[in-house]
Amino acid sequence: MCSGRVDLSFVLRAFSKGLDGVFIGGCRLNECNYVTHGNYHALTMVLLCKKIMEHIGLNPDRLGIDFMSAGDGIHFAEISNEFSKKIKELGPIGKSEGIDKEELKSKLAEVTKLVPYIKMQKNEKLSSRFSNLQDYENLFTSEEIDSLLRDVISYYIDPVKCQACMICSKRCPVEAIAGGKNLIHVIDQEKCIKCGTCFEACPPRFGAVNVISGRPVPPPVPEEKRTIVRKSKE
Ligand code: SF4
Ligand code: SF4
Repeated sequence: MCSGRVDLSFVLRAFSKGLDGVFIGGCRLNECNYVTHGNYHALTMVLLCKKIMEHIGLNPDRLGIDFMSAGDGIHFAEISNEFSKKIKELGPIGKSEGIDKEELKSKLAEVTKLVPYIKMQKNEKLSSRFSNLQDYENLFTSEEIDSLLRDVISYYIDPVKCQACMICSKRCPVEAIAGGKNLIHVIDQEKCIKCGTCFEACPPRFGAVNVISGRPVPPPVPEEKRTIVRKSKE
């Protein structure tokens, strides 16, 4: 329906399925039928995705975007042919870049898991809408995306501070928090999409959710040691 619906994760999934190139065709800029101007979202998403591709060693030319109307048949045909030609010249994905098939899959899986985090961190830039296309050239820099993906944060529940109020586990959008009544809550780092909801939701008087960066997340408390002993019952 709209190029703005093409999520970053769709593009990464296409590459992980082995597609050699992805081309997105959107309506002409400023001619969107809706107030949302989804084609601008598609453009910023593509620019971000290209930097992510560079970060994992993929040639960013494998992703293309252009804007046209339903009446631009010839333009569409020309662009499609041009793009296909370029992708054929680039050759099979990964092989041309010297990345092993399995390694590429795992890199793409790693970064796909971070999509909600990346989108949240770059939300403001992803929503930018400039009148001049040249202003988009340096919207995202390689250094910026490299550091974003290098210094990924994690969330960790401090077992000493957790009071098992269960607010975080109820609000976690991906059910990544194991808990229950009177049980210290624990984040499953494999499931966590780093949305930060638990950090926001944990009542300040407990302040049990910590943000961790640049060091490993401590191991989870063993299941048999998760029961909270209230002071009054000690
Ligand atoms: S950051 Fe917290 S709320 Fe968000 S997915 Fe991870 S555990 Fe769940
Ligand atoms: S919101 Fe905070 S105190 Fe409540 S269960 Fe989660 S981590 Fe523990």
